[in-house]
Amino acid sequence: MSGKVCAMGGKVAKIAIDGTSSGVLFDYAVPDSLADKCGIGFRVRVEFGRRKATGYVVDMAEAAEAPRTADGKPPRKLKPIEGVDGDRSVILPPLMRLARWMARYYIAPIERCVQTLLPSPVRSGRSREVVRLYVEAVEGAKDDALTPRQKTLLADIARVGGGWLQQVVAEFKCTPDTLRRLEKAGVVTIEARERRRDPFAGRRVVPSKPLPLNDEQKAALDLVLSGNAGDAKAPPKPVLLFGVTGSGKTEVYLQSIAAMLAQGRGAIVLVPEIALTPQTVQRFASRFGESIAVLHSALSDGERFDEWRRIREGKARVVVGPRSAVFAPVENLGLIVVDEEHEPSYKQDESPRYNARDVAVMRAHLEGASIILGSATPSLESWNNAQIGKYVLARLSRRAAADACMPLVHIIDMRREVAETGKGGLFSRALMDAIHDRLSRGEQTLLFLNRRGYATSLVCQSCGYVATCDACEIPFTYHKRDDCLRCHICGTWRHVPAVCPSCGEPGCKCLGTGTQRIEEIVSKCFPHARVARMDADSTSRKFSHDDILGDFKAGRTDILIGTQMIAKGLHFPNVTLAGIMMADSSLRIPDFRAGERTFQLLAQVSGRTGRGAIAGEVFVQTFSPEHPAVQMARTENFADFAKGELASRRELGYPPFSHLARIALHGPDEGDVASLLGRIAAAIRAKAPKDVRISDVVPSSLAKACDQYRYEIIMRAPSVARMEPAITSAISSVRVPDRMRLAIDIDAISVC
Ligand code: ADP
Ligand code: ZN
Repeated sequence: MSGKVCAMGGKVAKIAIDGTSSGVLFDYAVPDSLADKCGIGFRVRVEFGRRKATGYVVDMAEAAEAPRTADGKPPRKLKPIEGVDGDRSVILPPLMRLARWMARYYIAPIERCVQTLLPSPVRSGRSREVVRLYVEAVEGAKDDALTPRQKTLLADIARVGGGWLQQVVAEFKCTPDTLRRLEKAGVVTIEARERRRDPFAGRRVVPSKPLPLNDEQKAALDLVLSGNAGDAKAPPKPVLLFGVTGSGKTEVYLQSIAAMLAQGRGAIVLVPEIALTPQTVQRFASRFGESIAVLHSALSDGERFDEWRRIREGKARVVVGPRSAVFAPVENLGLIVVDEEHEPSYKQDESPRYNARDVAVMRAHLEGASIILGSATPSLESWNNAQIGKYVLARLSRRAAADACMPLVHIIDMRREVAETGKGGLFSRALMDAIHDRLSRGEQTLLFLNRRGYATSLVCQSCGYVATCDACEIPFTYHKRDDCLRCHICGTWRHVPAVCPSCGEPGCKCLGTGTQRIEEIVSKCFPHARVARMDADSTSRKFSHDDILGDFKAGRTDILIGTQMIAKGLHFPNVTLAGIMMADSSLRIPDFRAGERTFQLLAQVSGRTGRGAIAGEVFVQTFSPEHPAVQMARTENFADFAKGELASRRELGYPPFSHLARIALHGPDEGDVASLLGRIAAAIRAKAPKDVRISDVVPSSLAKACDQYRYEIIMRAPSVARMEPAITSAISSVRVPDRMRLAIDIDAISVC
């Protein structure tokens, strides 16, 4: 099809062109030949400028509604859509509505929001389903005419219930020709079938049955299933499931999902990427078997493509995945679960900078689905929403397993420890004794290093020189394994200098403590202990943390040392001791959420111990024992912590009492960056209403990275809607040159 057709009388499709980010939808005419093959959510091929492009139909309109030109002339002639991919939409209409909401709320180009709905192997169009030949015996077919060998082969095929042609050939030592002859004889069929690339193929899944719920769990399940207590027309309110670690939240999720499946509705379970371990998947797979699909970035493109298609075709009705799974194409959605809803990893750090928890709440609202936000340490946003009645609160106040109890928490004042022993404050005597104790009893220990706000850097003991990455202006991190210095922002590495580059003295030492240093000390003090370490370095292989955890769980390791990643979602029945090293280092992050984050970390780690029959003990080593975040974490007393924290947030006008927007500009020339952002800030100030507070233009806390300077402004307002018009008009009034990048982050999760 070529040339232009007149849109008059036909339909007009509003299309987001793939790979662009102008934020503009383009009108194309829908030719009559495609009229009933194309609609919202279809992928189409069009001519865009002079090139061929693919795009997605975001909206449809009658041609008569197409806007007239400014001088009142009839609409100009539109280019036609040239072709439609596939016979069904790739994007469900409610998801398209969700994308349009994201574009508005997060001030992001609509095309990027549409693209975000699809996993890259689906979007690229490069992945395809795998089709292979499948051989099956025809039931009741007469085998009289076959040779004895053919008869044996046929019997074998029938016995195993058929198989992939290649498999049959290899297994039964025959040739494809023989099989073709059997096909001719009418005793087997050979047909092309889709072969699923199953990421969890070969793992044994033991089916599990629903547990009888305790009273609190039952009440929580009732709240989820009763929807909106009487008001059938309103969409169900989100349920904040506030349950201490080990209180049986997962069992509530499982039974809520089962109830939805029974009604013919589907479900999505979001888990933080780091907690998306095979163990987690197993818990859902054990209950729901084949109706589970897993979306995970560690899957191959082929696996992700197949999982996505199983969801789109309705073969999988329960989806488990990290933040992007909130966009899974589940039809007739009944429930979304957001586990560990407070997790910062739900926030995407590139455009659209969405928070999957908030998008989940919106999606549930748009589709009339129920939603459970689960956490032992809810975000103050969700907690506040429950306080003011926007959400309903369900509490699980005790551990579910009959014999489990809350651990005993000791807070160790490291200031006193250092003063009394004259040694560096890494291990207290009490913690050392406790580890010794556990080893002698054959119980396990978890040592958790809080690395947030803390670095392992090379410092000269004579002149104080700190080895720093020139491009990023942050200290290098020392890596023992490779004996090198590495920049964690850009990845550059350097040899460790023999003498100080600044003063020439040979006294450069690595200050600060990594998990490797702790491993060394532990191995030295307890030479017979089996010690393992789990951090970003030791787990870069796919699923390798699964192996480390597997060993620990099976009791092949006595002491496991790790960073935040051991603090989440795991079950260790024989762990009776947890030591938290530098518990307070995260309090030093220059961010209003530092207290909240510290509380969360401490509560999560304490929650790891005492899951089995043996009572757990936690040693919190800190230089700030009096801080509320440290004190309250001791009893997992979230409610009191939240009360104090909310009061001070209200006073200072921080979230949840305001919404934050961070507008950042990156570029190679510091002066240009500062002055252009200054102009943007001025334009915003000129338009913004009085209740929008706007900071000065300041260098970001990461002021320079990869040779790019970064400046930013932070805005605060009672709602995003109050800020949006001023931001949109300001950014459309300036032209950002190609060498610079503007980033708008609505509901930024930190200010540093
Ligand atoms: P959470 O998700 O809140 O951390 P889990 O769902 O993992 O808690 O439950 C912790 C442990 O308690 C699990 O071993 C689980 O099998 C067990 N459990 C949960 N609910 C019950 C119940 N109603 N009766 C007995 N055990 C339970
Ligand atoms: Zn760097």
